[in-house]
Amino acid sequence: QTNMLSIRSFMILFLSCIAVRMNLCFTGIPFSLRMLYINGHFEFEKVEFAARDFGNRYQYYPAAILHPSSVSDIAMTIKHIWKMGPGSELTVAARGHGHSLHGQAQAHRGVVINMESLQGPQMQVVHTRSFTYIDVSGGELWINILQESLKYGLTPKSWTDYLHLTVGGTLSNAGISGQAFRHGPQISNVHQLEVVTGKGDVVNCSKEQNSDLFYSVLGGLGQFGIITRAKILLEPAPTMVKWIRVLYFDFTTFTREQELLISGENTFDYIEGFVIINRTGLLNNWRSSFDPQDPVQASQFKSEGKILYCLELAKYFHHNKDNNNLHEHAFTMQEIKRLLSRLSYIPSTLFISEVTYVEFLDRVQVSAVKLQSKGLWEVPHPWLNLLIPKSKIKEFAEGVFGNILKETSNGPVLIYPVNKSKWDNRTSVVIPEEDIFYLVAFLTSAVPWSRGNDSLEYILTQNTRILDFCKTANLGAKQYLPHYTTRKEWQAHFGPMWETYVERKRAYDPLAILAPGQRIFKKAK
Ligand code: FAD
Repeated sequence: QTNMLSIRSFMILFLSCIAVRMNLCFTGIPFSLRMLYINGHFEFEKVEFAARDFGNRYQYYPAAILHPSSVSDIAMTIKHIWKMGPGSELTVAARGHGHSLHGQAQAHRGVVINMESLQGPQMQVVHTRSFTYIDVSGGELWINILQESLKYGLTPKSWTDYLHLTVGGTLSNAGISGQAFRHGPQISNVHQLEVVTGKGDVVNCSKEQNSDLFYSVLGGLGQFGIITRAKILLEPAPTMVKWIRVLYFDFTTFTREQELLISGENTFDYIEGFVIINRTGLLNNWRSSFDPQDPVQASQFKSEGKILYCLELAKYFHHNKDNNNLHEHAFTMQEIKRLLSRLSYIPSTLFISEVTYVEFLDRVQVSAVKLQSKGLWEVPHPWLNLLIPKSKIKEFAEGVFGNILKETSNGPVLIYPVNKSKWDNRTSVVIPEEDIFYLVAFLTSAVPWSRGNDSLEYILTQNTRILDFCKTANLGAKQYLPHYTTRKEWQAHFGPMWETYVERKRAYDPLAILAPGQRIFKKAK
């Protein structure tokens, strides 16, 4: 049987090489894919879904979608394409939940792997002597990982603001939210990965084993391998959250106090912030919905032309229904009072609400569902995410808020600092030089067919002005979820890391088969 299989593999390879040489495809589709022995299946006709993403601006149709049911389906497909050599134009993109903004999970005339259909061992919580982790598929959604971990009273430490994203998708970027100042981004909280490289090899990697591949893949924009499994570090989970918002008029006070809060040990568990400029619009509320039960809330505070800065905080605690843990509740409130007493926000703007841990972490989903029901989720999202060094954040704010950006009615603008010491400089992600830097996220939605200041064109022009300003003022800003179209721009983005990045590509995906939608490398012909 082994002999038969190798004869068959040889025949497939032989025929596909001829097909490539003669530019011969059956019905325009690389026919050799049809003949691969896989447990899952390929979809060749209905491929539109893989040509869409959250950004809603780029649409590249693949030749096929692979719905893998095992890691070996992925390995076999990539190995097959690898063996076809540089003559074939076939590329491969892993698609997590397709929440990219610029077609990063798409593969024009290539193969898109629908990572969510990857099956494998069930999620499993494992205790070692020194730490606990959950072993999950690379296509697993973070919301499912949260639900599974909570069955054991545990939780991952670091999050994104939205949980309906996959492990492979966020680990390919960084995964940043209000817990990152303490725990680092999600890529700082991974114990081990299973990866399929651009040569089709299945490799386990961690800090100790194949460490170069491990660090390459983390924040690697999908360039070095497909994450098929990940072991995510866990900690004991709280059950309840005190969720707090306060407003500031003064930017310097706002950022000074954010920085003060992220530098202490005894502080809040989550620290973010956002900017409110001449707020009137509807779309703005989706991401910043506070307590849907409470109609009078900070997110609807009209700024009447002024710029306000909202500090958003959370303190976790346990509430045990059986012994009605009043003691812990009182202690948490005391701690919050102590921490707030050091701050100089506008006193009348203090909002505190209490929600469950799951409600807090999954907060954006409430707004997502509302927008979906109004057809406002599937609009273009020309988002711009920047990392700005602490020493330049004031200059950035003066140049952008109220100047380039005249209002925030097209979507929220997040701004919060993180500690660089919690990031590992061996990973592939690019961050600014300083010890503290800010994530500034312009999460805009464009209104289709509009010609006004909520049109795609207007927002894109605004984004370009912001980027030009950063460049001219030499702020040392870096794009997060970066998007560039030329090699020169990518080189500038990576700066001194570029050589290492190219080396890594050469080692793990020499034909540039993987993640073509990032447009960093082009497949060799
Ligand atoms: P996809 O869009 O499917 O893929 C992204 C990239 O990763 C592609 O290049 C793809 O080829 C590659 N990829 C996907 N899966 C794998 C894999 N298994 N192995 C290797 N490569 C893979 N980010 C934050 O950091 N913090 C936030 O708070 C945050 N909030 C967000 C909220 C919303 C509503 C949205 C839409 C995005 C948000 N993001 C945030 C950005 C998000 O982390 C990225 O867009 C992420 O890539 C989306 O994950 P995905 O599973 O949809 O990945």
